[in-house]
Amino acid sequence: MKKQAPLFNRLALIGIGLIGSSIARAARAQGAVRSVVATARSAATRKRVAELGLADQVMESNAAAVEGADLVIVCIPVGACGAVAKEIGPHLAAGATLSDVGSVKGAVVRDMGPHLPKTVHFVPAHPVAGTEYSGPDAGFAELFVNRWCILTPPEGTDAKAVDKLAAFWRLLGAHVDRMAPDHHDLVLAITSHLPHLIAYTIVGTADELQTVTRSEVLKFSAGGFRDFTRIAASDPTMWRDVFLANKDAVLEMLGRFNEDISLLTKAIRNGDGKALFEHFERTRAIRKGIVEIGQDSPAPDFGRPHPGLKPEPLPKPYAAED
Ligand code: NAP
Repeated sequence: MKKQAPLFNRLALIGIGLIGSSIARAARAQGAVRSVVATARSAATRKRVAELGLADQVMESNAAAVEGADLVIVCIPVGACGAVAKEIGPHLAAGATLSDVGSVKGAVVRDMGPHLPKTVHFVPAHPVAGTEYSGPDAGFAELFVNRWCILTPPEGTDAKAVDKLAAFWRLLGAHVDRMAPDHHDLVLAITSHLPHLIAYTIVGTADELQTVTRSEVLKFSAGGFRDFTRIAASDPTMWRDVFLANKDAVLEMLGRFNEDISLLTKAIRNGDGKALFEHFERTRAIRKGIVEIGQDSPAPDFGRPHPGLKPEPLPKPYAAED
């Protein structure tokens, strides 16, 4: 039995927290790359990555790490992507693919694109998978299984390079879709960014209540609040950058949300049970649709493995050809 060759020779991960370390774990488990080199901003993270054995090499310099890599994935907060592109641009190997995992795509394309040499294939990506945890300890190889990864290559990007990155993500267990960056940002504004904003708001509101004690909020959190607290525990730096980078799309969705919440407020004030019932019936059908297409599981959130549940298995490594 002959093993198929890895898709890429050397993967450089710039930033190796939740997402970067999950890519490292999955890529190695699947034999998708021959070697992994990783960088992190702080010495503490680099030390931890070395202790966990997540990469063949852990380096301090982003510029040195990308030299000789045929796949570079930038896994840092979106607000830092432009500066990092400027730093690594002159050191990227001709013919290499440069990608990222940022939750906003328009700003990433705008900030990174101008710093990249024409000899490099720029294929921005967003794996729509995550948890509220951060750092290299939080990652796991199955994070991307049955989740979507959206590629947003700028017009004119080499089709073969795009297909190869798509194959890489499929090997990690993801389904792959392609979108224009601005459309991605609009879609994610409603499916991810606005829900996070609502969670951050409601948890803050509960924290400021005078008439209900904090211990009561915690004690009775299973009434719905608990799910918001999980989302509102997500990384503050990452989410600050998401809202700054996706300002227009988030404001558009927030405007619509405010109009709709005014309608529900009016229905409650007027005792309009019919309006409330019809609205809740419609939203229940959306939930049913999400379950039916397999985008939710008994795991508590975003596919995060529950201690009592086995994580979904990685797809069979493309182990063998006869
Ligand atoms: P994370 O766990 O906090 O890891 C971030 C990594 O980036 C760390 O290695 C960190 O190094 C490094 N870093 C932070 N600021 C930097 C800077 N200014 N310059 C260079 N490196 C820097 O974050 P994550 O959850 O993996 O998120 C990374 C990216 O994935 C973000 O763009 C986010 O939008 C996207 N994303 C996140 C999720 C999610 O659910 N978390 C899902 C999909 C996509 P130190 O540890 O040394 O600071």
